[in-house]
Amino acid sequence: MDNILDRAGRFRGDIFEKESALYQTLAHHGQNPKALMISCADSRVVPELITQARPGDLFVCRNAGNIVPPFSQANGGVSSAVEYAIVALKVRDIVVCGHSDCGAMKAFLKPEVLDDMPNVATWLRHAHAAESVVKAAYPDNMDDRDRVRALALENVIAQINHLRTHPSVAAAMARGELSLHGWFFEIDSGTIMALDGKTGSFVNVNNDEPLPVALSSDVASVPHMPMAAAL
Ligand SMILES: [Zn+2]
Repeated sequence: MDNILDRAGRFRGDIFEKESALYQTLAHHGQNPKALMISCADSRVVPELITQARPGDLFVCRNAGNIVPPFSQANGGVSSAVEYAIVALKVRDIVVCGHSDCGAMKAFLKPEVLDDMPNVATWLRHAHAAESVVKAAYPDNMDDRDRVRALALENVIAQINHLRTHPSVAAAMARGELSLHGWFFEIDSGTIMALDGKTGSFVNVNNDEPLPVALSSDVASVPHMPMAAAL
């Protein structure tokens, strides 16, 4: 018997014991993750595997379509996770991670699949900017696979733009303490692509090269420096 839920019964003996010292440290000193990753809830995208994270390394928020609703007065789980990660945990990096073959993005091609999922349909409205960009700026004759991929890439950019509307994000970037990253995970090849904010394009993450950054806190903080100095 190897039911996924049954494995929980073996966690303490098989896994925890090997990491016992780390868990003791984390239990007594608290967590101090360096990054927040906002990824799709898709079971094939595993943030801790992609980043080879250990317990305590990564603050994770997952949902259908790796979406960040723009800031509003309405409370929300993603908004709260973002705020907590920045204000309480003081993470220095936020990664929005999309992926290939995303079911949420596929729904834009066949909206009728959402007829029985009113919550998902409402949630995916936060990705409409990506759909508009693909309709306006990509070729009409793309096949479905390419269109879903384009939607997923543009959706990462759209959600990074939404992140910047959150006061905690804007403030941390103005202080030069936060960088934003846009990633795309290819399920069939294991390739991770990162948005290069300087060129506006996604490039393969390569072992030997510096990680491209979507929006660096260094760049974002520059316009605020003279005003901050004048106060
Ligand atoms: Zn997905």
